[in-house]
Amino acid sequence: MTEASIIDGKGFAAGLRERVSRVAADFEAKAGRKAGLAVVLVGEDPASQVYVRNKNKQTVACGMNSFEHKLPVETPEADLLALVEKLNADPAVDGILVQLPLPSHMNEQKVIATINPDKDVDGFHVVNVGRLATGLPGFVPCTPLGCVMLLKDKLGSLSGLDAVVIGRSNIVGKPMAQLLLAESCTVTIAHSRTRDLPAVVRRADIVVAAVGRAEMVKGDWIKPGATVIDVGINRLPPAEGETKGKLVGDVDFASASQVAGAITPVPGGVGPMTIAVLLRNTVVAAHRNAGIGLDE
Ligand code: NDP
Repeated sequence: MTEASIIDGKGFAAGLRERVSRVAADFEAKAGRKAGLAVVLVGEDPASQVYVRNKNKQTVACGMNSFEHKLPVETPEADLLALVEKLNADPAVDGILVQLPLPSHMNEQKVIATINPDKDVDGFHVVNVGRLATGLPGFVPCTPLGCVMLLKDKLGSLSGLDAVVIGRSNIVGKPMAQLLLAESCTVTIAHSRTRDLPAVVRRADIVVAAVGRAEMVKGDWIKPGATVIDVGINRLPPAEGETKGKLVGDVDFASASQVAGAITPVPGGVGPMTIAVLLRNTVVAAHRNAGIGLDE
């Protein structure tokens, strides 16, 4: 059995950030201002704080403005909506991202619906969901778009391939399936009610696992030579003597890499793509909002 080739998401993301930096510099020269991303964080969730810090750092490193808005956890929903409206109206802001999850007294759908769809660089607004489903230009959620970039880089055309997406969330599974359909794959969406998941996965030339269950997808579920994209990020309980458990995906890498043709590792696969695609979406938004053409 040959070992799968490893899909280097970390390297691909670094290349994408370089391309974004060049496009952002070109935008600044043409528009006379930098592209700008506003990130709103409500509360003190430690994981969200790390994400937001990384987003801000990488936005600035790519030559764009980062506007950070930190609100206390007890902020009334009306105040958050007012801030989003203010950002909608601010010509220096091209992209708006409200870090999820929000505190429980806020309605996430209502907050997302308040973002101007043309500044919704996360692609969560129902208008962008509809644009994706109908093939119109819009913004596509960053993680699945990053997965498709990795797949096309590895395989070239995806046309006619059998793809199985495990997971049907609004932020990963569903947009992933739409993107694969747009690439002319034959798409199956599996979820917690799917019968005989191993048999469904065994049909696939492309497997995308977005479940949130550590090492669930085993090597003997994978068709030999298939391409496996592991979106899952799960932390195992710490082994003896460790303070922190190991990070693993939804795929059992040790067995799947013996069967697959290519596979993303965790960490270093899909994870680094998410912020890189967010920056790409922001620079695209800047061009569209300023009416400056861009070959995407
Ligand atoms: P959700 O919890 O929203 O969705 C999980 C999906 O998996 C659901 O559709 C659920 O089915 C399905 N599922 C649960 N158990 C099973 C099972 N036993 N068999 C088949 N399907 C099952 O998760 P997300 O989509 O938000 O995230 C998925 C994973 O991706 C997580 O590990 C998350 O950490 C990671 N992630 C990584 C990102 C990155 O790399 N940057 C970004 C976003 C997420 P049902 O709908 O029936 O309940």
